[in-house]
Amino acid sequence: NNQSLTLWRFPKQEISSSLQAWDSADALLVERFITEFNLTESVRVVTLNDNFGMITLALNAYQPQFFNDSHISHLALAANAQTNNIAPINNTVYALQDINEADVYLLKIPKNLDFLEAQLAYLHAHGPADLTLIAAAKATDINKSVVKLFNRYFKNVDVSLAHKKSRTISALNKQKSPYSSYQYWKNWQTSDNTAIYNAPNVFSRSQLDQGAAFLMANLPDCNGKNVIDLACGNGVISTAIAQQKPANIILVDESYMAIESAKKNLLNDTISAKSEFYLNDCLTGFADNSADIIVCNPPFHQQKAITTHIAMQMFSDAKRVLKNGGELRIVGNAHLGYKNQLQSIFGDVNFINQNDKFVILSTIK
Ligand code: SAM
Repeated sequence: NNQSLTLWRFPKQEISSSLQAWDSADALLVERFITEFNLTESVRVVTLNDNFGMITLALNAYQPQFFNDSHISHLALAANAQTNNIAPINNTVYALQDINEADVYLLKIPKNLDFLEAQLAYLHAHGPADLTLIAAAKATDINKSVVKLFNRYFKNVDVSLAHKKSRTISALNKQKSPYSSYQYWKNWQTSDNTAIYNAPNVFSRSQLDQGAAFLMANLPDCNGKNVIDLACGNGVISTAIAQQKPANIILVDESYMAIESAKKNLLNDTISAKSEFYLNDCLTGFADNSADIIVCNPPFHQQKAITTHIAMQMFSDAKRVLKNGGELRIVGNAHLGYKNQLQSIFGDVNFINQNDKFVILSTIK
């Protein structure tokens, strides 16, 4: 169909930005669905991992269900619907178990193959026997491991020729009993033997991140303080803060599986700190002047784009949410230049520690 959409990334980028809110794989998925699957509007469609809403909005007439782990993607979908005068998409879900049974699943292949496998395993276990799955990605991202995963769970797996540097993989019918050692939860231990559980799409699912480890060894005194663990991931930094009880810890991340993992890691018998959890974009909506300490191991990419705008947003939100005299303490890759960014927002930056890869920086409001 010939409709055109105006799409923005979220948060909205500069007009001059070269980053766009859709790619040729998204377009290819939509095109294949419309041209090859001679469908009526009663067909039940679910989109998975539609980054900024392009697929879902282009197929709005089918009222697709939108599954996405990323809160930012949910916000992008809502913002892009509004920009295009499309009524809000109300069937949006974060958890695999909330995915509806559908006739067609349109899946944008994520970079993280554990997360891809989680979705394939879920669709295999819960989708109808005669489901149609159409997936797409940049051709360079459809490698042997990706194709192998599709073949593990489905039959009639077909990889298309490249079109505008993207490909689709389609599958019809399920394998009877796929062999896989895949598990939703993966766990490993910190140096003090705390078990950390990791859902498929959480950052550093297979081992402790070295930056996180360095921040855990260089924490401020959180005893009795209101602390925010911003970009908490699996919550591992908070498990170290919890040892300095009684802290009140607020954990924030934009990934549903991060928050799900953080809850599992903080709300258990061995850790007794008071904790709250928010699926949120940075500190949007948090009260001004309310936190004593914010700790952060900031993200440095959005989907595949290397970017510092999220870290910048986190630092300026931190300045607003900290009480006067409150501290923001971060770990960063030594070459990322967070010092200048912090200086531009806070003024003074204190250097706390450094190793061969990372620096710990601190600023006081
Ligand atoms: N704190 C964990 C650790 O140290 O292992 C995770 C740190 S990881 C470098 C950065 C985290 O930022 C990811 O979990 C990611 O989901 C989260 N994130 C990315 N963009 C975000 C945003 N706009 N708001 C909140 N969290 C975000």
